[in-house]
Amino acid sequence: MSDPIALSAAEAASRVHAGALDPAELFDAYQSRAAADELNAFTWVAEEPPTATAAMAEGPLGGVPLAVKDLFCTRGVPSQAGSRILQGYEPPYTATAVERLEQAGAPLLGKTNQDEFAMGSSNENSGYGPVLNPWDRGRVPGGSSGGSAAAVAAGLAPWALGTDTGGSIRQPASLCGIVGLKPTYGAVSRYGMIAFASSLDQAGPLTRNVTDAALILGQMVGPRDRCDSTSLEFPESIELPTATRLDGAAIGVPEELSGEGIEDGVLRAFEETLHIAERLGATVKRCRLPHAPHALSAYYVLAPAEASSNLARYDGVRYGLREEAETLLEMYTRTRRDGFGAEVKRRIMLGTYALSSGYYEAYYGRAQRVRTKIVEDFRAAFEDFDLVACPTSPTVAFELGARTGDPLAMYMSDVLTVPMSLAGVPALSLPNGMSDGLPTGFQLAGPPFSENRLLDVAFALEQAIDFDAVPARA
Ligand code: GLN
Repeated sequence: MSDPIALSAAEAASRVHAGALDPAELFDAYQSRAAADELNAFTWVAEEPPTATAAMAEGPLGGVPLAVKDLFCTRGVPSQAGSRILQGYEPPYTATAVERLEQAGAPLLGKTNQDEFAMGSSNENSGYGPVLNPWDRGRVPGGSSGGSAAAVAAGLAPWALGTDTGGSIRQPASLCGIVGLKPTYGAVSRYGMIAFASSLDQAGPLTRNVTDAALILGQMVGPRDRCDSTSLEFPESIELPTATRLDGAAIGVPEELSGEGIEDGVLRAFEETLHIAERLGATVKRCRLPHAPHALSAYYVLAPAEASSNLARYDGVRYGLREEAETLLEMYTRTRRDGFGAEVKRRIMLGTYALSSGYYEAYYGRAQRVRTKIVEDFRAAFEDFDLVACPTSPTVAFELGARTGDPLAMYMSDVLTVPMSLAGVPALSLPNGMSDGLPTGFQLAGPPFSENRLLDVAFALEQAIDFDAVPARA
């Protein structure tokens, strides 16, 4: 094989293990592509492979380089979370998820662009400029892990880490035609992830195919991390998927997430995949998640509330931007005024309001109760079904600028991904064929810790759909 870029990450790892591919060459091949990135997908690219590359290559990830969303702390490497308030910030430690992957043999290739503090669905809220969708550079890649998705889709990175609070792995994966998996809440440590909404934030992979997702996820989960009290031990190891049939699998299609407000082309592609699932032996039936229509409103109370508290730490005192001023209060005010972008300020104000005394019960308390109902809805659905399926995003990638003036239109991008986030259940987006020349995503969700099942079903569908995840690389 002359072009290592054409290999999937799992294929590259096995060639490295077989001695048929030099990991330093593999790194260089991606490094030069990432350094010449025209999509603004990267905010930092490593200059050379780590000195330990040869030793790393012996690990299960075979020395296959990894792109990492900027909000993961990486020691001595800029970690800015897409925000000007953290410009040039180099943390003194590395996030557990990244550290586990480095130890398993994936060297850091670069840090990827994202919406500021992961707040957004298009990457246009980045303090470092928007990312372009490799399928059509006039369109957004989705967000907030847009840099990770664009980099993998364009073959600038073999695989990438993202985070998903309300859809930020799955939606950009869908818009860029790749696989994105949000694990069960708690399955991957949040230690060293710059926080947005801590009860929802979860790290996961963006990959060219399902096998790559399984390979890398297997190294992210495992024993619980003492540094994150919400992390959980994964009850089993992640297996590489092999299913070719789906006999006996019961898939529910929630009525609330598969009709209204979804583009025709997206629905058509979704229904075609459901037929494929039936052909492979699955039973597909309509089901209900009665409270799902309230998920988005609850999310846009809960996530800003948590964000307003998490972002209080950017005060110009300890790290990040500091604007000099006569008084302490003025220093705080100027620093936060200049350092945060408009969407972040909007969320802080919304969240602070939702938590304020006198309104707390009416907003935050009520949203929490909706969240409980949604958890119960999923639990009930999983008594009858192994998995539920719906489209990932109601639309294909939209044009740059199309939703920037209308926050509600932007928030609607998450209407099909937020319910799973509130329920804490694992969910995966699989490339699902094209609509108007742009990729669409098929979303599968399962009960907590059903990642192996999700990956297996997705793998069987992937073989039958036969989607080429890499857009033309002119
Ligand atoms: N787009 C959603 C938001 O803006 C979700 C973001 C995310 O998952 N980080 O909050």
